[in-house]
Amino acid sequence: MRRKPAAPALRVGIVTLAPGMFGSVLAEGLPGRAIRAGVLAVGFANPRDFSHDPRRHVDARPYGGGPGMVLMPGPLAAAIRSVASKGSWVAGLSPRGKAFDAAAAARLAAKKKLVLVCGRYEGIDERVCERFDEEISIGDFVLSGGEIAAMAVLDAVARLLPGAMGNAASAAVESFGGGLLEYPQYTRPRVWRGKRVPAVLLSGNHARIEAWRRRRQLELTRKLRPDLLLASKSSKV
Ligand code: SAH
Repeated sequence: MRRKPAAPALRVGIVTLAPGMFGSVLAEGLPGRAIRAGVLAVGFANPRDFSHDPRRHVDARPYGGGPGMVLMPGPLAAAIRSVASKGSWVAGLSPRGKAFDAAAAARLAAKKKLVLVCGRYEGIDERVCERFDEEISIGDFVLSGGEIAAMAVLDAVARLLPGAMGNAASAAVESFGGGLLEYPQYTRPRVWRGKRVPAVLLSGNHARIEAWRRRRQLELTRKLRPDLLLASKSSKV
């Protein structure tokens, strides 16, 4: 007997002038799988649909001068209101936001309702930014719009939702879980271009495998991301 699908664990509303950009992520990416599995629901609002201007303008020149155009508060705020409801957590994507990381993904995955607001052009009128619950940056570089950043956040959050991934255990042992990078992975064939898979992985001895993986995690993290080790040490004092 088929069980009635439960309500999705997370509802995400995306405010964007370019909803079409999300098509392939929703069709082929993990967020699409999470939607089909019923654990994620995604809706869109386009500020252009909330512009009262006959030519559907959503942007205007910045007061005080300067290059480019700024998203006007009216249509943007109306679009946000159309996908937000009581209890929604509203996050703006912005290069000045807090750096997105695994902890932020886990924090957002625990929400029930999330709204992601994508800027464009020179950005968003400050009076709308002031109403965001937080601002999120995906790195110290400038994208032409918030859509790619929102897709990165959506993907990282969706894969943490219960039932979204084929193997629920895999999220727990991945990079950044426990403050370390992941151990190196190998698969078939056993010998590839003369390079062998480390023998311990074929030994069937789970305790030895675990110890080897832990050692490699520490070595890799020390070599590639020593800042992670320092961060976890300082958080323990
Ligand atoms: N003039 C702004 C940049 C605007 S870029 C500035 O100098 O800070 C246009 C939009 O792209 C932004 O409103 C934001 O939504 C998005 N964006 C650009 N870089 C981003 C980043 N690193 N992380 C998240 N969003 C970003």
